[in-house]
Amino acid sequence: MNLIAELKKLKCGKIRAEVPLKEYTTYKLAGAARVVIYPKDIEQLKKLLVFIKDNKVKYKIIGNGSNVIFATDYYDGVLIKLSEFNDLVIEDTKIIVGAGYNLTKLAYQVSRMGLTGFEFAPGIPGTVGGAVYMNAGAYKSDMGYIVSEIKVLTPDLEVKTMYNKELDFHYRTSFLQKNPGFICLEATIILKRGNAEFIMDLIGERKKRRLMTQPLEYPSAGSVFRNPEGNSAWRLVEAVGYKGKTFNNVKVSEKHANFIINPNGGSGIEIKNLIDKIREEVQKQFNIDLIVEQEIIE
Ligand SMILES: Cc1cc2nc3c(=O)[nH]c(=O)nc-3n(C[C@H](O)[C@H](O)[C@H](O)COP(=O)(O)OP(=O)(O)OC[C@H]3O[C@@H](n4cnc5c(N)ncnc54)[C@H](O)[C@@H]3O)c2cc1C
Repeated sequence: MNLIAELKKLKCGKIRAEVPLKEYTTYKLAGAARVVIYPKDIEQLKKLLVFIKDNKVKYKIIGNGSNVIFATDYYDGVLIKLSEFNDLVIEDTKIIVGAGYNLTKLAYQVSRMGLTGFEFAPGIPGTVGGAVYMNAGAYKSDMGYIVSEIKVLTPDLEVKTMYNKELDFHYRTSFLQKNPGFICLEATIILKRGNAEFIMDLIGERKKRRLMTQPLEYPSAGSVFRNPEGNSAWRLVEAVGYKGKTFNNVKVSEKHANFIINPNGGSGIEIKNLIDKIREEVQKQFNIDLIVEQEIIE
């Protein structure tokens, strides 16, 4: 089957074939993917998923690629990008936003309006959908505190509303992560009225701190490991001597030992190998099994 030709016939959104992964991942990974599609609406997305399932094609929803590692030189499948799902409605303290909307941009927009609750999000370079999936968060807050409900496409291709309680939000995880067939289409977020000046000052302070403590000048995907109960992942990585270590094209950051940076266009395979080495060493020296926060896609 000529996949690209068949997909073009289907008319399910803009298509890009043989795309460099560096354009779809904040790690700026080496390698390529067979095709990326941008469905415009739910009907196009459904049509695409029916085709994918009928033809047993590999696929992955991709947000801003800020939490993923493609551990392969070639992703032989379809990446589905929901950047066209970017409607935004603000009704007083209630925000209804498409899954493809940029999280940082949204957080700045509503914070400037004097809405409080989203101060944790600037600096998290994902989409709304990716943030719900990951239950992204910082400063003791996360999406679970502000998302009241989401609109999902179920594996049976039904559109359904799921409420906060059903979404099983916990530290960097959610119902969506445990049930990968579900796709977030839209989220409803409830904030509170606050003082815009105070909120923006807090965001500014946090931005300064991130710039000082995180290697934001290099491609990365944020924290590599989850913090184990009562410990910090960076402390463990440092304790086993990996801080600042270079392996081929990739490196454990000197600024923050829980970041791997990719200054020389390395591949996801290199990053995965480095992660494996760190985990092995932490297991050996501390008997702790570090859980990888980033998602490894084969
Ligand atoms: C410099 C830097 C700093 C960071 N700081 C933080 C931080 O402070 N806190 C934090 O939590 N994270 C942080 N991250 C990690 C990352 O930004 C978050 O995990 C973010 O939520 C990922 O969103 P994304 O859109 O990029 O998702 P992607 O990386 O594209 O995808 C992640 C997963 O979500 C799934 N997904 C994406 N969209 C949807 C959808 N609509 N429906 C269903 N599944 C979907 C994908 O299939 C994939 O499995 C940081 C990353 C970087 C690079």
